[in-house]
Amino acid sequence: MVRVRLAPSPTGTLHIGTARTAVFNWLYARKEGGSFLLRIEDTDKERSKPEFTRNILEGLQWLGIDWDEDPVIQSERVNQHQAAIQTLLDKGLAYRCYASEEELERMRETQKASNQAPRYDNRHRELTPQQEAAFQAEGREAVIRFKIDDNAEILWKDLVRGPMRWRGADLGGDMVVARRAPADQIGDPLYNLVVVVDDAAMAITHVIRGEDHIANTAKQLLLYQALGLAQPTFAHAPLILNAEGRKLSKRDGVTSINDFRSMGYTAEAIANYMTLLGWSVPEGMEERFTLQQAAEVFSFDRVNKAGARFDWDKLNWLNGQVLHALPPEQLLQDVTPLWTSEGWSLPEDQSWALALCELLGPSLTLIKDGVEQASPFFICPELEEDGVKQLAVEGAKTAIAHLVTTLESDPWDGLDSSKAQAMLSDAAKATGVKKGVLMKSLRAALLGRLQGPDLITTWSLLARIEQDLPRLRRCLD
Ligand code: GLU
Repeated sequence: MVRVRLAPSPTGTLHIGTARTAVFNWLYARKEGGSFLLRIEDTDKERSKPEFTRNILEGLQWLGIDWDEDPVIQSERVNQHQAAIQTLLDKGLAYRCYASEEELERMRETQKASNQAPRYDNRHRELTPQQEAAFQAEGREAVIRFKIDDNAEILWKDLVRGPMRWRGADLGGDMVVARRAPADQIGDPLYNLVVVVDDAAMAITHVIRGEDHIANTAKQLLLYQALGLAQPTFAHAPLILNAEGRKLSKRDGVTSINDFRSMGYTAEAIANYMTLLGWSVPEGMEERFTLQQAAEVFSFDRVNKAGARFDWDKLNWLNGQVLHALPPEQLLQDVTPLWTSEGWSLPEDQSWALALCELLGPSLTLIKDGVEQASPFFICPELEEDGVKQLAVEGAKTAIAHLVTTLESDPWDGLDSSKAQAMLSDAAKATGVKKGVLMKSLRAALLGRLQGPDLITTWSLLARIEQDLPRLRRCLD
């Protein structure tokens, strides 16, 4: 039975890298009929905040990612982490290192000066009991280090990257697994150790995470071995890159799922796009899909090794596709808060707003475009340059005047569009103005410009709130 997990650190809002990792884990769990679990890695006490945990959970829910068991809270498991460290100490696989920060700094300086990569030189690996006693008598505190054999060969078969091979010598020397503490205690356990202990306790079968964790995987595999724990299978998803091919960072403007939400992207489009950041659809499948659809076919052989470039055009295209397919009721629900914050109020008859959504939906890329595009239906727009020009065309005002007279004697309620068609034909016939000129002029009068959605529907919506006649009249002044 497949069991996967997302292990976010609540030190910031839901990051897009984390969201993409969440999507891959979720898709794999659903494809395999397994479980998707959460573990909140809140052991960094200073930087972890409950509001970030809330933001992360809420963001996952928003994306449509559900989890199968109550989230595990890492900080509640510190006893288990310390017990594992004690086991390593008892087995002689870990030891206390008393080297001070200054001493380590000097060591690194020397390494740098002779062009060596910085690493811990394992200087306290073989302390005699007398040496230890002397350090303790000085009142020195100690970190706990896990022994890493330089000659160790670490092999695993990565589901994305294939056969992987690391040498112990490339891991920077014996690894700190517990922070500095008095020598009779075990200090705060650190990331690589706690992840192994927790993944094993949660019976995780597959660890799916970003490529930036590859070196951690090598270290963690050594810990699995040392603790006698069953190793999971690993899959490392490619990094997310910006348009220039560098790792996506704060400088690219968006890093958090919140940013996309406030920019007006839909959860469906973001979830869809996160999936495409590294995974490609099987032949014959469209790139626009729901998470459920992707889960039916998801596999790691379609996850690329190369970094995934973030492509705004594709995201915008997807978002447009989602909005175009949205039922007007849903669109209305999404756009109403934006309209309200503009101070616009909707007519009591809800069918008006629904008809407006139906009209605008097919031309939206972002939800917030629904503000600009709906604006002329709430506030009478100024005439723009192309509108003014159009109304100066020969015959334009005569035709508009004809429409005004017709509407004054027999106002249109905006409901039966064949009546609008008939009024246009009559006006063209009676004034001799070409229908094309008449239609463009009507659009200019109603919307102030020549671009806009379907003319008859536009007119109908304005007629229903008795805003057509005043707009036509003002063009004649
Ligand atoms: N807390 C780690 C992170 O957010 C988890 C990495 C992992 O999946 O093991 O990067």
